[in-house]
Amino acid sequence: MGAVAALRRPLTDLAGVGPKRARQLSRYGLRTIGDLVYHLPFRYEDRRNVKTIAALVPDESVTIVAEIVHVRERWGRRGRRDRGVEMQVRDETGVARLVWFHHVPYLRDRWRSGMRASVYGRVEAGPRFVHPEIEPVAGEVEGDGDTKPEVTVRGHVLPVYGKPGGLGAGLMRRLAHSAVATFASALREALPAAVTARHGLLDVADALTHLHLPPDDADVAQLDAAATQAHRTLAFDELFCFQLGLASRRSAYRSDPGIAFGAPGALPRALRAHLPFALTAAQERVAAEIAADMAAALPMCRLVQGDVGSGKTVVAVLAALVALEAGYQVALMVPTEVLAEQHTDTCAELLRPLGLRPLLLTGGRTAADRRRVLEAIRAGEPALVVGTHALVQEGVVFPRLGLAIIDEQHRFGVLQRARFHAPHAPRGGARPDVLVMTATPIPRTLAMTVYGDLDVSYLDELPPGRLPVVTRVLSEVERHVAYDAVRQVVAAGRQAFVVLPVIESSATTGLRAATATAAELRGGALAGCRVALVHGRMQGPEKDEIMRSFKAGRVDVVVSTTVIEVGIDVPNATAIVVEHADRFGLAQLHQLRGRVGRGGGEGMCCLIASPTCAAGAIDRLRVLETVHDGFGIAEADLRIRGPGEFLGTRQAGLPEFRVASLLRDVHLVRAAREEADRHLAMLRGLGEAQRRRLVLEAVRRHGWADRIGLVGVG
Ligand code: ADP
Ligand code: MG
Repeated sequence: MGAVAALRRPLTDLAGVGPKRARQLSRYGLRTIGDLVYHLPFRYEDRRNVKTIAALVPDESVTIVAEIVHVRERWGRRGRRDRGVEMQVRDETGVARLVWFHHVPYLRDRWRSGMRASVYGRVEAGPRFVHPEIEPVAGEVEGDGDTKPEVTVRGHVLPVYGKPGGLGAGLMRRLAHSAVATFASALREALPAAVTARHGLLDVADALTHLHLPPDDADVAQLDAAATQAHRTLAFDELFCFQLGLASRRSAYRSDPGIAFGAPGALPRALRAHLPFALTAAQERVAAEIAADMAAALPMCRLVQGDVGSGKTVVAVLAALVALEAGYQVALMVPTEVLAEQHTDTCAELLRPLGLRPLLLTGGRTAADRRRVLEAIRAGEPALVVGTHALVQEGVVFPRLGLAIIDEQHRFGVLQRARFHAPHAPRGGARPDVLVMTATPIPRTLAMTVYGDLDVSYLDELPPGRLPVVTRVLSEVERHVAYDAVRQVVAAGRQAFVVLPVIESSATTGLRAATATAAELRGGALAGCRVALVHGRMQGPEKDEIMRSFKAGRVDVVVSTTVIEVGIDVPNATAIVVEHADRFGLAQLHQLRGRVGRGGGEGMCCLIASPTCAAGAIDRLRVLETVHDGFGIAEADLRIRGPGEFLGTRQAGLPEFRVASLLRDVHLVRAAREEADRHLAMLRGLGEAQRRRLVLEAVRRHGWADRIGLVGVG
């Protein structure tokens, strides 16, 4: 049986698991053998402290090895209906009593006088043990030895598992042991031997066996800290398989021919000549990386990560010009209509001196307008088309798409990224280049995991002269400081944002809400200012209309939820207030802060902590007072909140690792990626079909085929 097939077997394959127990386990998330095999103990009990009965001292947790003298039912505290069990045991030094107050039928049925047991628990005077754990002695086989052998044999370092209520610790242990004893061998050589050798890893099967059935000389402290070689092996295996899937997707994409655009020519040169500023060194570097990709005959798959305001737009337009001058179409996709309009305006301004004009395609345009743009696209004329999701909808055909640019990609998630490729991939023809841009700074190691199938460029420098946004953390009693500042900003002809975590207030959260706060500010602290409300539950057009008014200066203050987070560029907005700032991640607050101070004026950001905010949370917010670099903040945020929270949503494309931790195992991520690339290159000798089968097997073993988008492969 192959590893995938073995791991997919239902738990009812195990002795002792019938339909009822299987249901109980499945409610706890354990459905297959694989689930159980990878359900690692969360701690270990060290029962190597073995004493003789004569040496027992009250209050100590110890193991004794003793022979059962007799097993008796005893009346419980509430009489006959509440019977318990009592045993007397002895060794060569003395006698002890074991007591269970509740009826535990398997104890009475399983144990008889003359049997030897290992008993673990806390010693009470007597000596007696109340509710101890009792197991057959290691090395001695219980019951019908022929049919279930080593399963019940265990040592003195016992794993403790998370388990559904009502299932005994011992039974859980037996099930896990049985699953591992029977199925771990299917995972032999799951990792290439060369890889395990190079990184000092164990065989995956041995690693699982070590963790579920630790030998008596195991290091319990290391086991508890998940720091053993076995843990490292399993983490590496997960990361390796994941990277193998991504590498395979990357190589599949790149196995199609791409377009070899020429080196940047007259158009990019003309743009540079007309720019009112010089590119930063980072912009130059990233533009060169993109140009090199575009010149190659392979399809480009590149992610540009750049902090808010790092100047991604110019870099994108430079790339667009390379495609345009080669006679190709360029699509620039953004998440909202307002952003699409904003980018169209920016691009129009940049392209005007070159005699070019971008097209705009969104869902919200008039039918005639839309038809005109669609026809222009269908005609295949070289043009830069800016748009929303409308660009990837049914019926939108780019006959000569050379480059697809996706801005603020984290808002789309990986799925859209995959879809964008598909409809435009001309059958058998060259694939367009793809450039993805994001302002969410993701620490490099994490980026390697989330975007393992992309090459990553870092725009890690802001244009000169940018003043950092002055940031202050305020307590509830200092709230008025924030709104005094907003009033002054508006009096000076500038504009401001106020951000809240929720739209409507409710008794359960006790949070200030956008709706109520807008009303309260209009009637109070910001009386006389033009205050508008925007939130995610509004219809798109309504929301867009308010943002347009704000950009046009007809609104002074926008009160909103985080809908303003992405890319809105209102140079005249110089202040932002965030209520309940402790409810937001640091990276997100940094994004919000990036909305102000884009016009060169000094920006101000007030972070108001919740009244109930813990001191630790305030310290966390204070990081923003001094750190202004997005990557520094991202690293801090990742450390504080962990990867899942950090990325906000599952759709960010992060798989759920069972053993690997993207924080703890950062160094393994890189090693796993290198090994995956190397392994894939080696598999190339095998022929397409077999290679795909092997990669798919690795990915399926961890249940990621869907997530990585390799479902249909092979
Ligand atoms: P983001 O990376 O957040 O998308 P933008 O591309 O919107 O940033 O650029 C932010 C602002 O910085 C824009 O007004 C842009 O014109 C300006 N800008 C871009 N590059 C430079 C540069 N090298 N020097 C000065 N200003 C620049
Ligand atoms: Mg941008």
